Amino acid sequence: MNMQEYIDEAEKALLHTYNRYQVVLDKGDGVYLYDIEGKKYLDFVSGIAVFALGYNNKEYNDALKAQIDKLLHTSNYYYNVPAIEAAKKLKKVSGMDRVFFTNSGAEAVEGAIKAARKYAYLKDGKTDHEIIAMNHSFHGRTFGALSVTGNPKYREAFEPMIGHIKFADMNDLESVKAKVTDKTCAVILETVQGEGGIHPAEKAFLEGVRGICDEKDILLILDEIQCGMGRTGAMFAWQKYGVKPDIMTSAKALGCGVPVGAFMMTERVAASSLTSGDHGTTYGGNPFAAAAICKVLELYEKEHVLENVNEIAPYLEGKLDSLVEKYDVIETRRGVGLMQGLIFKEPVAPVIQKALENGLILINAGTNIIRLVPPLIISKEDVDHMTEILDSSIKNSI
Ligand SMILES: *Cc1c(COP(=O)(O)O)cnc(C)c1O
Repeated sequence: MNMQEYIDEAEKALLHTYNRYQVVLDKGDGVYLYDIEGKKYLDFVSGIAVFALGYNNKEYNDALKAQIDKLLHTSNYYYNVPAIEAAKKLKKVSGMDRVFFTNSGAEAVEGAIKAARKYAYLKDGKTDHEIIAMNHSFHGRTFGALSVTGNPKYREAFEPMIGHIKFADMNDLESVKAKVTDKTCAVILETVQGEGGIHPAEKAFLEGVRGICDEKDILLILDEIQCGMGRTGAMFAWQKYGVKPDIMTSAKALGCGVPVGAFMMTERVAASSLTSGDHGTTYGGNPFAAAAICKVLELYEKEHVLENVNEIAPYLEGKLDSLVEKYDVIETRRGVGLMQGLIFKEPVAPVIQKALENGLILINAGTNIIRLVPPLIISKEDVDHMTEILDSSIKNSI
């Protein structure tokens, strides 16, 4: 079948929940993807902040193949070595004390919410606790995660959500204070908002929220599913701010292609929160998924991923700023590290379409924002190459 025939088949078989780009991807290598007709694309999306190590990393692939031949799965009623190793490594890089592995980001958020509610329940025996989330946030599509997602469009048709959620504004401490009551059990936010349009938290805001939480014994949940795992130049974005959460979530680049997630907490929270029988998962943290996490964390060190982000990010920012200068239609740039957004004055779909035709994969975050979340191993040459294609795509589409 040719590409169009595959796309037609897809549209007959898959539920239509995505408006997909008209391309069937076949294989990847480094920072490049190839479609089934052999066309090569420079990838500045990395499966939405997933493939941090680039495609077809030999050591990563070999580790997964070896684990397949050994043991793919065992129930969480038994211990397995990769999960033990993955938890130890994750504790070390995060500074958190306890880990629960999930299959996805949304599930990590579900677990984090349950942990916060249980913590509050054990304090007063009540079941009317409130959570404060942010407008323009994104935490996933399952009911708990959707309930704290600050985009009414995503929620409306599926009401009622889980109850007692209030929304405040990111980087507006007063708006958070105004929502705090005696019933507030947690504040949840993305350290850098991703889907909502690349909005980094301001340091004073994050410190302020931490202060409110400390004062009232409210738990701070930081969602690091997109902005974590080195994307901002620190292993987790909050480490850049020096504001430690009580509970945090990770996913996306945590598995670099294998579907995994995790929520983690401090010992203080773990000591009076979820306990035996409160939460579970069949697949979460199985030996295969855990082997992926182990190898990812090992390769981050070995391949100096954070160093590369910190070296390349200012270069990327410079190149993007030159596009902001050059084109009236671009309002500004926002972002941290290799998580950047170009904010346009009009819809960016035509630019992304043109870029795709020109061999560059980009994605939006909202209608007017081009989001750049490339593999974390990109070089300056890759940035130059991207800038060239993006430049001509803007020129020829707007
Ligand atoms: C992608 C994302 C999620 C959801 O993760 P899934 O693996 O798609 O369930 C949650 N929070 C943030 C910040 C994300 O970017």
